[in-house]
Amino acid sequence: MTELKTGGSQGYLRIATEEAFAPPEMIEAYRKLLAAGDVDPGFYSLMGFYINSQAERPRFIFDRLQDLGELRLADMDARGIDRQVIGLTAPGTQVMTAEDGHALSILANDRLSEACRKYPDRFTGMAAVAPHAGEKAGQEIERAVSKLGMKAVVINSHIHGEYLDDPKFGATLEAAEAMDVPIYLHPQTPPADMIRPMLESGLDGAIFGFGVETGMHALRLIVKGVFDRYPKLQVIIGHMGEALPYWMYRLDFMHQAGIRAARYDFLKPLKKEKVSNYLKENFYITNSGVAWEPAIKFAQQVIGEDRVLYAMDFPYQCPPEEVTILDNMDMPLETKKKFFQTNAERVFKL
Ligand code: CA
Repeated sequence: MTELKTGGSQGYLRIATEEAFAPPEMIEAYRKLLAAGDVDPGFYSLMGFYINSQAERPRFIFDRLQDLGELRLADMDARGIDRQVIGLTAPGTQVMTAEDGHALSILANDRLSEACRKYPDRFTGMAAVAPHAGEKAGQEIERAVSKLGMKAVVINSHIHGEYLDDPKFGATLEAAEAMDVPIYLHPQTPPADMIRPMLESGLDGAIFGFGVETGMHALRLIVKGVFDRYPKLQVIIGHMGEALPYWMYRLDFMHQAGIRAARYDFLKPLKKEKVSNYLKENFYITNSGVAWEPAIKFAQQVIGEDRVLYAMDFPYQCPPEEVTILDNMDMPLETKKKFFQTNAERVFKL
């Protein structure tokens, strides 16, 4: 394997767009939630494991999540990553009360933006919010973008089992659209109503449950008319679009069949008609956790090569070998540069 370097000598910079951090205060808040008991089963399964396990992988991840300095930069250098676009790790504020979640989002945004100012060539920040804090969440997006220089908003999927298409979360969507920043819709464990058969089979986490739940969240935004209400809103989804590109044909066929038959009185025809039109015009897809050429090429083919971006998923999944695999994709340099660099520069206004 040739040595991975930053600086773009391979013809493009590598900008990784779904990279995670966690302030120590959030880990402490999670410990308290776990100790108090009566927590969401998904949160217990994920954080109960990560916080308490002494195994090598969870310790590696926890040390790196909490660092926004030399440790992270050294890991980026070793993997040839020029820039990380960083967001508050799952489940972020969204397992907390609205009040605690809002306070944590302010702390996280102050902390992350400080690091971004210190390393402006290496770090870009995504703002955390607590969507259940209503108007305050919208105000925090405005502050984080206009005062702190953040370039996106990260939402860790469901909010206590509720979804962003609910009008009660309108302030978050309205602010993101008004400030012209994308929302990175990142997974967390499925809510209690959904998780039982996954827990029984060990499929609740990143292996499968994350993608199923987040893919459904993205689809809810489309079919419940969020993009007809907020037409300029842009949403980024990771993990090869949580498999939605592969579903597109059937989504269009069955959605239109359901609309024609008036099967659900709450489902109205969409302005852009097809579900796939929204995936092509209101979504970006990253390959976080999927260093797999056929999947990346398929997404480029059906969503468009201007809408597929590189992500590593640091520190959860960061083998340097995956960077080499992607460097070696059989793809024109121009397309590879869009994937690794220029799409991210455009989406995050770098
Ligand atoms: Ca991630």
